[in-house]
Amino acid sequence: MKFATKAIHAGIEPDKTSGAIMTPIFQTSTYVQDAPGVHKGFEYARTHNPTRDVLQTQLAALENGNHGICFASGLAATDAIAKLFSSGDHIVSCNDLYGGTYRIFTKVFGRFGMQFSFVDMTDLSNIESALKDNTKLIWIETPTNPMLNIVDIAAVCAIAKKRNILVCVDNTFASPYLQTPLDLGADIVLHSATKYLGGHSDVIHGAIVVKEKSLADQLYFLQNACGGVPGPQDCFLILRGIKTLHIRMDRACENAEKIAQYLKGNPKVGNVNFPGFTEHSGHEIAKKQMKKFGAMVSFSLKDDSIEAANKVLSSTKLFSLAESLGGVESLIGHPATMTHGSIPLEERRKTGVVDSLIRLSVGIEDADDLIEDLKNAIQ
Ligand SMILES: *Cc1c(COP(=O)(O)O)cnc(C)c1O
Repeated sequence: MKFATKAIHAGIEPDKTSGAIMTPIFQTSTYVQDAPGVHKGFEYARTHNPTRDVLQTQLAALENGNHGICFASGLAATDAIAKLFSSGDHIVSCNDLYGGTYRIFTKVFGRFGMQFSFVDMTDLSNIESALKDNTKLIWIETPTNPMLNIVDIAAVCAIAKKRNILVCVDNTFASPYLQTPLDLGADIVLHSATKYLGGHSDVIHGAIVVKEKSLADQLYFLQNACGGVPGPQDCFLILRGIKTLHIRMDRACENAEKIAQYLKGNPKVGNVNFPGFTEHSGHEIAKKQMKKFGAMVSFSLKDDSIEAANKVLSSTKLFSLAESLGGVESLIGHPATMTHGSIPLEERRKTGVVDSLIRLSVGIEDADDLIEDLKNAIQ
């Protein structure tokens, strides 16, 4: 089945009791048993919920995996992945990553004796030299946030395989429509479904997809044992969002390409980061591992100051100043003070997140209107 068909049909069946074409929202905490231990496969809703089960099946299909495991947020999913490991274990992560991931690794799991290294994964030798005897996981985010660097997933997986190290890819920025890391050798895919999968800025949700049954069993255990599960209504909203993922993504990627081109020609703009540019250092890898180049663009200003950035950020009319990304509406943000506020200044500057850096999540409005909006704001 091709992607667009899977987005509509994979795992979706008419409701058995009513024939409802849409998956019902099973808003229940428990299920009646015929006799002690005699039930229909559902005992308690932290452990199993039919709405969630459908979403988990659908997500597994979209990522070409076998098992989906859903959580209350992307970070609750990250939390479960980190809990696969123990005190004394070491994780190598990219240095240019979602601020909340950096925070949970260093400020939560760091306290429990886990070790982390953050390296620039665009140079594979940095990964080789960061690996230790106790390294258990390599954590990739690509395209990276907010610099939109590209990490070669297949190449990192080859390094990891040789040493029996697991690879997890945070696939939030690309979505399964553009990139399927399990096909490239990754063991675990993570999503903040809050973003493109949901797609309408109306729900917080997280998901993991794996191929291996043993890994899935550990993650289902953690989902139930730690309890960070999503509500059924949230699962319904993600199911609904997924139905248009491919169409939304096509338009958003097309808009992003036009906007990146426009910004490149604006004399007040400094660097424009967009993997679709042939001169982008990761362009060839992006072409190889992604279907399109994504709908995120970041850029700096020639006047590299927080004040100059603030002027632009508070002048757009269509781009809303807000955290998050991946919705139908375009958003503008300031990584240095917003999403990446929890990353120390030296770390932040090292990865290229300069004071004037502005990040765009390009939506599905008309590209001409979006460009006009940016033009006015930058002037
Ligand atoms: C938003 C985001 C997360 C965290 O997800 P939540 O749903 O907000 O908990 C993780 N990774 C990336 C790349 C994100 O953009």
